Amino acid sequence: MVDMDKIVSLSKRRGFIFQSSEIYGGLGSAWDYGPLGVELKNNVKRLWWRDNVHLRDDMVGLDAAITMHPRVWEASGHLASFSDPFTGCLDCGRHYRADHVEEARKNSKWWQSLKELNDWPDVKKWVQSDKGGKKLAPNLPLVKNPDQIFQKMRGFGPNLTSVAGPDAHALPELQGLTDAMLLNIVADGSSVCPNCGGKLSDPKPASLMLKVGLGPVDETATQTYLRPETAQGIFVNFDNVLQASRKKLPFGIAQIGKAFRNEITPGNFTFRTREFEQMEIEFFVLPGTDEEWHQKWIDERFAWYPRYGIRKENIRLREHEKDELAHYAKRTADIEYLFPMGWSELEGIANRTDFDLKQHSEFSGKALEYFDEESKQKIVPYVIEPSAGADRSTLAFLVDAYHEEEVRGEKRVVLKFHPELAPIKIAVLPLLKKNDRIVETAKKLTADLRKRWYTVYDDTASIGRLYRRQDEVGTPFCITVDVQTVGDEKAAADEKVTIRDRNTMEQVRVSLPALEPVMEKLMAGIWVDVAQEHGIKRT
Ligand code: ATP
Repeated sequence: MVDMDKIVSLSKRRGFIFQSSEIYGGLGSAWDYGPLGVELKNNVKRLWWRDNVHLRDDMVGLDAAITMHPRVWEASGHLASFSDPFTGCLDCGRHYRADHVEEARKNSKWWQSLKELNDWPDVKKWVQSDKGGKKLAPNLPLVKNPDQIFQKMRGFGPNLTSVAGPDAHALPELQGLTDAMLLNIVADGSSVCPNCGGKLSDPKPASLMLKVGLGPVDETATQTYLRPETAQGIFVNFDNVLQASRKKLPFGIAQIGKAFRNEITPGNFTFRTREFEQMEIEFFVLPGTDEEWHQKWIDERFAWYPRYGIRKENIRLREHEKDELAHYAKRTADIEYLFPMGWSELEGIANRTDFDLKQHSEFSGKALEYFDEESKQKIVPYVIEPSAGADRSTLAFLVDAYHEEEVRGEKRVVLKFHPELAPIKIAVLPLLKKNDRIVETAKKLTADLRKRWYTVYDDTASIGRLYRRQDEVGTPFCITVDVQTVGDEKAAADEKVTIRDRNTMEQVRVSLPALEPVMEKLMAGIWVDVAQEHGIKRT
């Protein structure tokens, strides 16, 4: 698995993702998509929309406003309970989501270096070393008061000053301790900071809602919140959409849009930010059919990611435990991806029951119901919600596409995007940039292909370097125009160009009139067929 630093640096170097406001020192909780990043993310959103809206009879779209009436957030329960448990270090002042502390501590430098030690004298040395405890975890109880901790372990009196040294054998064997026991000893029983080892405060709930005042004068501005999920825009429009679209149950409303959460610890690149984009579906069903529909959506969404290249071994489903379910949910399953920092949520698929529609009916006084022809009764539908993150999906596709290979003794970095996701689909490369006929043909070809696929023209380096550049941004096909294509004094033009496949680096030579149908096949991902038909070109 590639580490995140490589992805961050490639993203910056090649224009996928930049840190927000970088020239001012950056904002850790927001990121900007560069020229290739915006193409990639737009492709993710376009495919999601195509597969979930355009290819289905039972779905319509919506684009609701980000700011909503403040009562929406009372009715939805977000004001009362949309919070995460928060804790802070009493020594270094860092903040954490209480339920993330354990993971962060396990991955911290100090814990990992401590875990590598063999016996107590080593621990003693580590505590005192400028490269060990003193530097990595200066506020850890073991580092601050080693004598006290060693004495406690031996059951000695508080006045003795001897430490793990000559009588280290009197201590429990270090290697025999479980992680929990070792932590308990070095932290002296408290919860400690992954950054400095200091004591953490007791967890308290912290609201994730971002406040905003609408109106020019602070005192009279309407206080509301930037939406923390796009879902509520769908619920409050349920009746509008029903009346306008005349849909019958079961049917869904899909929406892609920004959401905002005042996350306690944004981080891991674009994985957790305070401003992000969601791709959400609220799928309304008859009560009683909800469990079946929930399972259908879990299966459907789980199959979606591998369709566009995510390796099956890198995604899994995780069922929510009863005590982790959101206040509205009957059952929730998360699709998790093996990100560089470990398995983490990509999408949540919840059965939200009739909670939201009922709440909004009660708070707004407007009935949000459906007339069921069969039972001749008004009912409140149940809702299945597949809720995916556009940024997290984009990051997962980027991470999964990243490959390093050795080609003729050199490292090749290649992003093996599915052609539908690749930011640039085709690069047209003239083999000789001083040959006018080659350049003219290549530019005309670029202009023609652009009408159907995003195509770029590049003549700014040698062909080898141009291929590497396109590999590194995941362009599935390069087309080269050479002397044979346009002819010269010695030979007539053969009017053929060479197509190179990014993944196999194989090449085929195809006549210009046949190029478009061949590209069509290639975009559908069938290089093998095309290679068989046209024969691999040996260079
Ligand atoms: P987490 O447990 O990671 O905080 P969540 O369970 O609160 O996520 P949901 O409320 O289910 O997330 O939101 C649906 C989707 O929206 C998530 O699966 C994720 O893809 C995306 N998402 C949620 N919070 C963020 C965030 N802070 N940054 C980026 N994407 C997010």
